[in-house]
Amino acid sequence: MNKEFRVGLGHDTHRLVEGRPLILAGVRIEHELGLLGHSDADIVLHCVADALLGAIGRGDIGEHFPDTDPACKDLDSSRLLADVVALVESLGWSLVNADIIVHAQLPKLLPYKAAMKLRLAQLLHVQEDRINLKAKTGEKVGPVGRREAMQAEAVVLLERPVRD
Ligand code: MG
Repeated sequence: MNKEFRVGLGHDTHRLVEGRPLILAGVRIEHELGLLGHSDADIVLHCVADALLGAIGRGDIGEHFPDTDPACKDLDSSRLLADVVALVESLGWSLVNADIIVHAQLPKLLPYKAAMKLRLAQLLHVQEDRINLKAKTGEKVGPVGRREAMQAEAVVLLERPVRD
């Protein structure tokens, strides 16, 4: 059976502030600063959701989950990503792999990577070996390096059978 493929790209930035929890890929991270946003500001889940929407040609999460919608206030982004995954699967697509970069000066994310990958695998309905997670500092320059913001990027590849 022949297959067709689609690639999608996602990016997200949120400001770092005091008094907010830091949640990355659905995992609570111990840190004195957290990400500011209308939802839980989980940059990892947001950029993965945007990459999936990109691959299926359905715009971005701002269109699907407007930050003017009270229902999205403090939204658990796991729910947002689950909705996007349901849309992707309803169109017959499945995830080949996802490669994700988190840009954060602090804290060190290595101790959390396994838990983050596990949560992503659960939400994306794939084995963990289809997901790669990278953590980069900002080399103490720019908004990431000065700890004003965190950013994340994701690329995904989707496949589906083509009936000939
Ligand atoms: Mg966001």
